[in-house]
Amino acid sequence: MIECRNLAKSYGKLEAVSDFSLHLEEHEFLSILGPSGCGKSTLLRLIAGLEVPSQGQVLLQNREISGEKIILPPEHRKFGMIFQDFALFPHLSVESNIAYGVSGSRNEKQKRVNELLELVSLPHLAAKMPHQISGGEQQRIAVARALAPRPRLILMDEPFSNLDYQLRLQLRRDIRDILKHEGVATIIVTHDQVEAITFSDRVILMHNGKLVQAGTPTEIYQYPKTLWASSFVGEANHLPVEWQDTSLNSPFGLLAVPAEIGKETQILMVRPEDFRIEYAPDEEANGTVKTVDFSGSVQIVSVELKSGDTIQVSGSPHYLWSLKEPVKITAERYLCFNSSGHSLEGFAEE
Ligand code: ADP
Repeated sequence: MIECRNLAKSYGKLEAVSDFSLHLEEHEFLSILGPSGCGKSTLLRLIAGLEVPSQGQVLLQNREISGEKIILPPEHRKFGMIFQDFALFPHLSVESNIAYGVSGSRNEKQKRVNELLELVSLPHLAAKMPHQISGGEQQRIAVARALAPRPRLILMDEPFSNLDYQLRLQLRRDIRDILKHEGVATIIVTHDQVEAITFSDRVILMHNGKLVQAGTPTEIYQYPKTLWASSFVGEANHLPVEWQDTSLNSPFGLLAVPAEIGKETQILMVRPEDFRIEYAPDEEANGTVKTVDFSGSVQIVSVELKSGDTIQVSGSPHYLWSLKEPVKITAERYLCFNSSGHSLEGFAEE
């Protein structure tokens, strides 16, 4: 439906977006995930037609809409925008905010407004002014307003970051259901990895204006292509390893890895939940418990390995580890990276 072809945008010497290509399918939910300043909002503005690309094109249903200039102006693209600051018109009631972009007779408008108020579960707030309702309610109304003219695409820029944690979780779920119900394709820009993973069908990971990796949330989490990606999405332990004769020598013993991968491997990436931790007598132990952080549903155990490396292990809080306990650590899943930090394979499983 939407395609970006080798898009770039420079501000003076700064290249905010470089050689960026993506495809968005009808009804698809796509997240653009990356740290602050990596070019996400610039990319969204390029797609919306609010910026002219320095290079490349934006296509809508195979027709160029932005290139050397804006060909289809933003107001004719039928894209709905939702921002971090809700951006409701302060002098209009909730109802009038939603009705703002809707065309048709008075009856048709009212019907659409009522339908959307029902959809966002706020029909009782129709007559209120934006300042009389909470942040979460304002964002639901902003969603209703964006959906009112039946857009073909919704663009959201950090839509939940002004809300507190619990509300964010709830609203994320609700808005996802609402957008799915309307069947509208959505691009969400966020620096929050949990948001990207839970909200979207596909994630595009962005760093320094460039696309690092695109994939489903599971692919991005389980098969990060670079060491940077492995720590930006989730927690990751990075350990130095060395190829020795026929296996990979790691701080927790020899690992059977195919030679063509093992010989190139310099760093092993292990997720905290992929370590197994067991009590072991001193002579069999390969590490000692340094700290234990209990956070209700999990415990994070920091273990100093005999190699001198410190790793983070997460697990069930059912049995809490004690400080200085000797332990045996093994890795149930790991991923091999070369000296330039690129993944050499899919996850290996012991
Ligand atoms: P993100 O949304 O990932 O936080 P942005 O797209 O807002 O990143 O910004 C990317 C880079 O481009 C940043 O270094 C930012 O300072 C710069 N930038 C964004 N908009 C402008 C602008 N209008 N003029 C100059 N620099 C800009």
